Amino acid sequence: MRLTRIAAVALTAALAFGAAACGGSDDDATSSKFAAGSTMEKLAKAGKIKIGTKFDQPLFGLKGLDGKPAGFDVEIGKVLAKELGIDADKIEWVEATSKVREDYIQQDKVDLVVATYTINDTRKEKVSFAGPYFIAGQDILVKKDNTSITGPESFQAGDKKVCSVTGSTPAKNIEQYLKDKNTQLVLFDVYSKCLDALSNGQVDALTTDNVILSGYASKEPDKYKVLGQPFTREPYGIGVKKDDKVFRDWINDVLEAAFKDGRYKAAWDASIKDLIKIPDSLSIQRY
Ligand code: GLU
Repeated sequence: MRLTRIAAVALTAALAFGAAACGGSDDDATSSKFAAGSTMEKLAKAGKIKIGTKFDQPLFGLKGLDGKPAGFDVEIGKVLAKELGIDADKIEWVEATSKVREDYIQQDKVDLVVATYTINDTRKEKVSFAGPYFIAGQDILVKKDNTSITGPESFQAGDKKVCSVTGSTPAKNIEQYLKDKNTQLVLFDVYSKCLDALSNGQVDALTTDNVILSGYASKEPDKYKVLGQPFTREPYGIGVKKDDKVFRDWINDVLEAAFKDGRYKAAWDASIKDLIKIPDSLSIQRY
């Protein structure tokens, strides 16, 4: 009887201690969870975040009639915000077109960029990247009845026009296949303008990442087709301030955890579902 009483007292004490420990971390969640002075601590304390994404790319980032963007990049942004204790309605979504992404990060117009953003060495001179969280590949979108464009080599003919976006990797990559980039390459600031140009016959093709093209083709499957032969590798990263290693590592940890615990799949299902196959694995580059 006495032993049981002692055990009971010990148990009560342990429970009380546990509750106090939990209570303590709950009361002061932001200061105890993140390292002092880190970007995570700063954002968690502020309770808001500015995320750069695309506004005209179905499946990854498309601004809806409610003024809010939707898509996989947006969902990934929400996962990161939530991990910082920031609700989705406290995220300020900033349109980050291909050309302005590095500038926006450097100028603090955004805290991070999730925007079909290929990790590469040129960009790494200005910003740092977490990820990759997805690997895309450059491809070509044409009108459904087009039989003359079968790959990037088709532009050697010299009279076919292809559209892409200023500051994007596909705009640069396609140059080597063109006979005359001055007459054949048409550039806009966003891909939806290329789609308009393709629709009204001003250009013969749109080139960018396969998944962006799939987004457009999925909206109008009777009108457009993606060739389906990617010819580059585009690993998507999350852009942050150059050398903010602590923030980058933290994002990498969250991505890895989200991939394991189903949050990545939930983000995928909420935006892309079965239109594109979900990756089997993630291989985050730590540097
Ligand atoms: N992933 C490529 C890039 O980062 C093309 C897509 C885009 O322009 O966002 O440039």
